[in-house]
Amino acid sequence: MTSFDFPPVALPEPARRLREEVRDFLAAERRRGTIMGRADSWFTGWDAGFSRRLAERGWIGMTLPKRYGGHERGALERYVVIEELLAAGAPVGAHWISDRQAGPSILRNGTERQKTRFLPEMAAGRCFFSIGMSEEHAGSDLASVRTRGERVPGGWRLTGTKKWTGGAHVNDYAIVLARTDEAAGDRHAGLSQFIVDLRAPGVRIEPIKLLSGEHTFNYFHLDGVELGEDALLGAEGDGWRQVTGELAWERSGPERFLSTLPLLVAAVRKLAGTTVTGEQQARIGRLVARLHALRQLSLGVAMALQAGQSPDVRAAVVKDLGTRFEGELVNEVRAILPAVPDPAATPGSYPELLAFALMHSPAYTLRGGTNEILRGIIARGGENRS
Ligand SMILES: Cc1cc2nc3c(=O)[nH]c(=O)nc-3n(C[C@H](O)[C@H](O)[C@H](O)COP(=O)(O)OP(=O)(O)OC[C@H]3O[C@@H](n4cnc5c(N)ncnc54)[C@H](O)[C@@H]3O)c2cc1C
Repeated sequence: MTSFDFPPVALPEPARRLREEVRDFLAAERRRGTIMGRADSWFTGWDAGFSRRLAERGWIGMTLPKRYGGHERGALERYVVIEELLAAGAPVGAHWISDRQAGPSILRNGTERQKTRFLPEMAAGRCFFSIGMSEEHAGSDLASVRTRGERVPGGWRLTGTKKWTGGAHVNDYAIVLARTDEAAGDRHAGLSQFIVDLRAPGVRIEPIKLLSGEHTFNYFHLDGVELGEDALLGAEGDGWRQVTGELAWERSGPERFLSTLPLLVAAVRKLAGTTVTGEQQARIGRLVARLHALRQLSLGVAMALQAGQSPDVRAAVVKDLGTRFEGELVNEVRAILPAVPDPAATPGSYPELLAFALMHSPAYTLRGGTNEILRGIIARGGENRS
């Protein structure tokens, strides 16, 4: 198979049944009033109670082994669950990073003690992780991180500042990428990952407010944080390989094209029962057709992951197309159903949902690796193919 093949995927019967179960669960949650139907719910919808109820249904840590609290289900079943949650705008932000990448990374790289300590808690929706990768001058160029990990008697000391650390003020732990060997010749060598308790002495969290005024991001200062030996995740010096593996999970999911779908759903609901023009119908049709195509491509990536492949180039294609679609959808919906965006309007009303999606728009093509960086990956994938 080449870097650009996306074979058609048909969802298996158990996945179809599962979709109905998830829809029933979401209908009950709507009646509880926990679902606002906002865009970007995986990034800003932090609700520990919702995460725990989801975990009780077995929908967190779905692909983890049963001996670590998981459910040993397939990647496509997990896909069905998360696409339903995203399409509904459900508040999945608390457990999102644990479920998507911290859990799989600990399973792949962690010690037996780390696996038994963290994975069952994650799968129970009781342990939430942040990503401690980016810094002031180390975003796209992640290998230039300056946070230092020094060996000290009994463990490690971490010093530095991470930036854009989502959820660090509410989550429990972060996986931090740090330089542990300044002398390593290759800049990708000498990096290591650590599991850091976000309430440990020496950790200082400083908010960075979003355009909307929400507190989601942070500076995450590590002022000489002392860690035991067992905080090291994986092998010392192997951080680059590990972090690259994590980025594959981070970039490949349906949250890279579904973040703003709840806004389209809200607009269509508002139009229902009114006289809809041919122009409005055609524009909605075009959006839905693009959505369908993106979903097929994204399912191809999920399938490849399930088959044990590393579909980095295919994931970059979907993320580039998908994140641009997320922003374009907001502008298109605004043109189809004009309204004055109003962040102060009734929560869940169309003007409020529109304002929320608009104010989050700058983030869609940046987070998890910018589109320029993804296109570099795609171009190199194309070269490798010939
Ligand atoms: C909503 C959101 C959530 C985030 N959450 C987290 C988080 O939880 N944890 C975390 O660690 N990080 C997080 N990030 C950080 C994110 O990974 C970085 O913002 C991203 O990788 C870009 O890095 P940068 O901001 O330093 O921009 P830079 O790397 O400085 O890039 C600036 C511009 O230059 C372009 N550019 C840079 N290098 C090249 C190149 N080689 N070729 C072509 N163009 C280039 C970029 O595409 C971009 O347009 C988050 C970011 C956002 C927006």
